[in-house]
Amino acid sequence: TRRPHIGGNWKMNLTLDAARSLAAALRDGVAGATQDRVDVTVFPAMPHLAAVADTLKGSPIAVGAQNAYFQPDGAFTGETSLSMLSDLGVASVLVGHSERRHVLGESDALVNEKVLAALEAGLDVTLAIGEKLEQRENGRTDAVNAGQLALGLAGVPAERLARVTVAYEPVWAIGTGRTASPEDAQAAHAAIRRALVSLYGADAAAGVRIQYGGSMKPGNAGDLLAGADVDGGLIGGAALQSTDFLAIVSAAA
Ligand code: 13P
Repeated sequence: TRRPHIGGNWKMNLTLDAARSLAAALRDGVAGATQDRVDVTVFPAMPHLAAVADTLKGSPIAVGAQNAYFQPDGAFTGETSLSMLSDLGVASVLVGHSERRHVLGESDALVNEKVLAALEAGLDVTLAIGEKLEQRENGRTDAVNAGQLALGLAGVPAERLARVTVAYEPVWAIGTGRTASPEDAQAAHAAIRRALVSLYGADAAAGVRIQYGGSMKPGNAGDLLAGADVDGGLIGGAALQSTDFLAIVSAAA
């Protein structure tokens, strides 16, 4: 049985004060019973990481970065290394988010470099994958996901797979208010699990958490999370409100 994992991707939102307040509300709101049953990670914007990590120190909520560069140091203007993040108490990195792939132009090869480097640096990884609307309409959902998964995980040894959470985020459902139906989400998750089985075997694949992301809200989280292969959620908009986010965490518990 997989322990559910709920992520809050704050994207490029909030002021420093608001990020600190949101972190404090989550810290104070995660009930004892819930924290034993669900892993929770929040991904604040880069300039807010230190303050949020400080606010969440000693709490069960982990702090992740929305991005990182794979090189250890050097002439990479504007980038952030994994050791810089570790120094702040950051425990994981989000890699391959659709906004990084499709707005910032990140390739599968770059995503793979980041996954490998983050795991090597001892950080956990949330690897986001997902099809665009046109790909879904052409019946290519499962092939697109399997491809992004195989390329993103290339070279990752089985013993490191347990530190990877896969986030399935259909691009057409992100920030649109349009969610995958629970049936469509479960079908995509099951196909992702089969792709993991073919890459790593049944035992390793059975341990990987696969989150659903894309307009998950308190009102639809329970139905989506009921899918046998839906092991959590990666939340955007609803992660910016502590009551909404905590309701989704409770729905996963
Ligand atoms: P929304 O929940 O705002 O659709 O965003 C999902 C997402 O992209 C999380 O990474």
